[in-house]
Amino acid sequence: MIFSVKDLGRSPGSMRTIEEHVPAPKDFGVALIGVQEGSDMELDLRLEAVHEGILVSGTADVEVSGECGRCLIPIEYTSGVEIQELFYYGDSGSLPAEEEEDLHRVENDSIDLEPVLRDAVVTSLPFQPVCREDCKGLCSECGARLNDEPDHHHEILDPRWSALAGLTGTAAENDAAPRTESDEREES
Ligand SMILES: [Zn+2]
Ligand SMILES: [Zn+2]
Repeated sequence: MIFSVKDLGRSPGSMRTIEEHVPAPKDFGVALIGVQEGSDMELDLRLEAVHEGILVSGTADVEVSGECGRCLIPIEYTSGVEIQELFYYGDSGSLPAEEEEDLHRVENDSIDLEPVLRDAVVTSLPFQPVCREDCKGLCSECGARLNDEPDHHHEILDPRWSALAGLTGTAAENDAAPRTESDEREES
């Protein structure tokens, strides 16, 4: 994703925009979530010549896809990623050596936006992707999706439940008894 900046010369103040759709390069993501290679990225960037180099700012709209870390259903959404990066002219030489290694540079009158976009996209991704904030995840017993079955539970075999069942049976029998007695009294 290399763009020529030759037309900007080295005159501070000159600027140009990049408004294009480009296919996403690979490795724009992390384990559970990311931007699929080849999916559409919409760049809306401004390149501006400043004293030290070329300042790139704007947004990249990307299609994020992955899966929920709790219930594993697919997640998809569009994300507008903010970009702001200065590409230094190769001969700036005004910075401490240890900082120079991490700098983005204008090389052969061009800038490579791929590493800048990758950093911006990857840092914008959720650390723990979820399909929704209150996702209940999966049942630890059987793997059922608890979002789909709010009342999902497993019967616990507890002796107290069978005792209650016995009481209900007795009550029904007692109900029937007085009726029989009164019937008999009326007859006699
Ligand atoms: Zn989920
Ligand atoms: Zn279950």
